[in-house]
Amino acid sequence: MDDLDIVVIGAGAAGMSLVRCLVARPGPFGVTPTVALVQPVAASAATERTWCYWDTCQGALDRTVSAGWDRLRVRDADSRSVTGRLPGMRYKMIRSVDFEAHVARELAAVPQVRRIGATVEEVRQHATGAHVLARDADGDPVRLRARWVFDSRPPRRLPPARTTLLQHFRGWFVRTERDTFDPSTADLMDFRTPQPRRGVSFGYVLPLSRREALVEYTEFSSRPSTTREYESVLSHYTEQVLRLGVFTVLRAEQGVIPMTDAVFDRRAGPSMFRIGTAGGATRPATGYTFATIQRQSVDIARSYRAGRTPLPPSPHRARHLAMDAIMLRALASGRVDGVEFFTRLFRRNAFDRVIRFLDGRSRLGEDLALGLSTPILPMLRCALEVPLLARNHEDGDR
Ligand SMILES: Cc1cc2nc3c(=O)[nH]c(=O)nc-3n(C[C@H](O)[C@H](O)[C@H](O)COP(=O)(O)OP(=O)(O)OC[C@H]3O[C@@H](n4cnc5c(N)ncnc54)[C@H](O)[C@@H]3O)c2cc1C
Repeated sequence: MDDLDIVVIGAGAAGMSLVRCLVARPGPFGVTPTVALVQPVAASAATERTWCYWDTCQGALDRTVSAGWDRLRVRDADSRSVTGRLPGMRYKMIRSVDFEAHVARELAAVPQVRRIGATVEEVRQHATGAHVLARDADGDPVRLRARWVFDSRPPRRLPPARTTLLQHFRGWFVRTERDTFDPSTADLMDFRTPQPRRGVSFGYVLPLSRREALVEYTEFSSRPSTTREYESVLSHYTEQVLRLGVFTVLRAEQGVIPMTDAVFDRRAGPSMFRIGTAGGATRPATGYTFATIQRQSVDIARSYRAGRTPLPPSPHRARHLAMDAIMLRALASGRVDGVEFFTRLFRRNAFDRVIRFLDGRSRLGEDLALGLSTPILPMLRCALEVPLLARNHEDGDR
C-alpha cells in the first residue's frame, strides 16, 4: 500500500484546483507534500463543460480563460434591458479542457504529484489518516494510505433539504454568417423565453466574437427537460428572439446543477473531507461553484502549509444561505413570479450590488437593501415558513 501525505479523489474543477494550490509552495518544514490525484480513466470527456465566474481583471487563471466580459445585461420579457459592470472585475469563461490541460502541464513538473487512473470505491478512516480503495481500468485493486483525503465524487443522493430545484440547461456554441454579437457584453438573463408553470427560465448569451457565441436556455424548475424540448426552445430563441439568421451549431453543452438548501458535510471523518459540489460549494440560488472552489482551494492549502487541520472553510456565508433558502422556497412554491423577481432585483438595485450578492461578496447592508427590493409579503411568508419545514430527501424519505 502506498503512503502519501494527501489523496485527492476526482480531477474535476475542485480536485485539479486543490492539487495545484497544494503544491504551488512547499508545505510544513519546507517540504512539498506527496499527492495522488485519483480519477477514473477517460472520465474527462464525460465531464467537459465551460465554467464562468467573476474575477479580478488580472486573475490567477487568466492563461486558461477563453473569453471575458466587462459589461453584463439583463433583459425582461418586453426586451427592456438593464446593463451594468462590476468595477475592477470581469466575468470570465474557462473551458474545462483548457483548464485540465493547463493544470496537467503544471503538475507534470512536480515529481511529488502522481496521477492515478482508478475508480474509488471506498474511503476508510484509520488511526492516523485514511485508506482509499479503488480499482484501475483492468479491475485490479489500487490501495492508497494518506494523512488527508479530499473527496470530490458527486454524492449518489443529495442530503435532505427543505427545497430543491434543478438548474438545468442546454447551450449551443453557434457561428453566424453575419456579424451579430457584441463581444463586449454578455447577456446574463434574457427572460424572452417561454416560462415554466413553477420556477423561471431565461436565455444566456456569451458572445465569443462578432459571429460566435454560446447561446444557452436555462430553467430553474423541478425536473430537467428532454433534449428534444431544449432543442425546440433553443431553435425558437435563436431564430425568433435573437434573429441570428443563418447559423451553424458547432457544439452543444447540457447540464443539471441542483439548487438546494440541503446541508453538505465538509468533513466525512477526522482525516476525510469533501470538496467541490460534494462539499456544498455550489451556491443554492445561482448554481455558481467555480469561484468558490478557487477560494476554498487557496484556504485549504494555506491551512495545510501552516500545519493546521486542512478542513475546507464554509463555502458560503450563513446569511446568504438563509436568503437563498427563502428565494428557492418562493420560486418553488410559485408565490413569486420568477421573471418579475429577477428583473425587479436588477432594476431596483445598483448592478454591481446584485452581482456581488450572486458572487457571495455582498455586505450586510447591501443584502438588506436587496431583500427590501423583492416582493415583500410573499418573501416574508416564505421566510417565516422555511424554519418550520422538515428536511426531506427528494424521493420523499426523511
Ligand atoms: C455543464 C455544466 C456547466 C457548469 N457551468 C458552471 C459555470 O459556468 N460556473 C460555475 O461556477 N459553475 C458551473 N457549473 C457547476 C460546477 O462548477 C461544476 O459542476 C464543477 O465541475 C464542479 O466541480 P467538482 O470538482 O465539484 O465536480 P466535477 O467537476 O464534476 O468533478 C468530479 C470528479 O470526480 C470524478 N469521479 C467521480 N466518481 C469517481 C470515483 N468513483 N473515483 C474517482 N473519481 C471520481 C469525476 O470523474 C470528476 O472528474 C457547471 C456545471 C455543469 C454540469
